[in-house]
Amino acid sequence: MTDTIFAKIIRREIPADIVYEDDDVLGFRDLNAQAPVHVLFIPKRPLATLDDATPADAELLGKLLLSAAAYARTEGFAKEGYRTVINTNTHGGQTVFHIHVHLLAGRQMHWPPG
Ligand code: C5P
Repeated sequence: MTDTIFAKIIRREIPADIVYEDDDVLGFRDLNAQAPVHVLFIPKRPLATLDDATPADAELLGKLLLSAAAYARTEGFAKEGYRTVINTNTHGGQTVFHIHVHLLAGRQMHWPPG
């Protein structure tokens, strides 16, 4: 996997507004927020896309989702609700090839997405 801007954020080589961190996961505000709350949850261990995930990544993928859910509860918007999104490859709209879960909240979401 090639180095990405998210790997640089993990290494603190470029700044980010980090709002969540544990041993395996980092959460930081999206620079181009699409909702009042827009946080990206990324594994500290590199994994490019969901398509690259194997059964060995099951625990890590679970941790990404649970981190987003824990953040939503801590910040007090879990009951109102939120959306979690993983974009994968070109048709999925993925632009940064270090897997990430988008957590969007603070407004009514719509379906279908664009
Ligand atoms: O799912 P996708 O790969 O398109 O999402 C990448 C996200 O990373 C974008 O929402 C973009 O705004 C965000 N980003 C960021 N900080 C950077 C580079 C990208 O928040 N330095």
